[in-house]
Amino acid sequence: MDKIICLDLDDTLIQTQECYYNTNNNLVTLLQKKKNLHREEILEKQSEIDISLISKKGFSPVRFPTSWVKTFKHFLNESYFCQEEIFNEAYKVFTNKIRLHNDAERFLNRIKESEFSVWIVTHGDLEIQNKRIKDINLDWVDKVIISRHKNIEMYEELKTDSHKPLVMIGNSVRHDIIPALEAGLEGIHIKRERVWQYDISNPNHSYRSFNSLDEIWNYITEEESLC
Ligand SMILES: [Mg+2]
Repeated sequence: MDKIICLDLDDTLIQTQECYYNTNNNLVTLLQKKKNLHREEILEKQSEIDISLISKKGFSPVRFPTSWVKTFKHFLNESYFCQEEIFNEAYKVFTNKIRLHNDAERFLNRIKESEFSVWIVTHGDLEIQNKRIKDINLDWVDKVIISRHKNIEMYEELKTDSHKPLVMIGNSVRHDIIPALEAGLEGIHIKRERVWQYDISNPNHSYRSFNSLDEIWNYITEEESLC
């Protein structure tokens, strides 16, 4: 099988949004104990602050906890809460082990035994992404790429590192599919129930999109058998 399968990590293999969802719920509950606010109102403000901080802090692990401290400051007088407590509660998304999606477990078991080369292509903080990869025992993959941003330049660099065709599989149309297609890779989208606002995009490109990694496995292996 003369292809390299590049796999995104967060929300493609592991349940990152589910982890954020639980942490957000805990922080919403803490804030609601101090002030009568709607859940949606709190989460909308936190998401707005978090995404606005990406330009300054990028994928630094400080960004998400900071966005929660700022959210508390937006709604409450600083004397009504402990900033350190809020920061530490939010920071748990980086220290907790994030579980694999069920279909990812099956997919990884299959691809591990196959002749495909497997690269993990993820963006984020180097230390945290390495920890997440280690937590799910991915030490058998052929290569791990942890970039600051998944843009066309990054995918073009991947191409120069390989003489085989590359297939990028990921949940983010904005970061896994569009720039990969524009750099000349094949892009395969996996739909996930929970999405991060920052990952959303409305592209003009056409690409294949599947509901599970089981369907993607069938697609890439059928495609191979036709070659
Ligand atoms: Mg992702």
